[in-house]
Amino acid sequence: MFTFRPHHFFCTLGFQGKGYSKGFVDNFSQIKNDLTEETLITVTSKTDDICSPCPHRCSDVCATQQKIEKLDQAHAKALDLKEGGRVTWREAQKRLAQLTLQDHKNICQECQWLNLGLCSDSLEKLKNSLL
Ligand code: SF4
Ligand code: SF4
Repeated sequence: MFTFRPHHFFCTLGFQGKGYSKGFVDNFSQIKNDLTEETLITVTSKTDDICSPCPHRCSDVCATQQKIEKLDQAHAKALDLKEGGRVTWREAQKRLAQLTLQDHKNICQECQWLNLGLCSDSLEKLKNSLL
């Protein structure tokens, strides 16, 4: 079982080995590798399993907390995620696949990684495989 903050469901879908430090990337790679369709993920509004080794983590908040809260709120609304709720990775992917590319731009507009296009490519692949 993992704990994810709301925007990290989509980030996990799009993760392709880039990140803030080697420790961060290694941890994220391990999490993505360990995820199965049946893995249960608990939603949190605080720092999570992906944040854990991040150089921007300050205890249970992010150094850019205001920006991250906006991202989390937008993703929680789009994916119907509630604090403390649990979803399987399969269910999370089903919800992600319902998003349009415009939804993606809207909910990720605060993110520095948006223009790399990795997450939009991953969303398109997911939609093609599930819809
Ligand atoms: S654009 Fe940023 S916030 Fe959105 S899914 Fe990608 S990495 Fe996550
Ligand atoms: S930048 Fe903030 S929200 Fe993102 S992984 Fe690091 S601590 Fe977590």
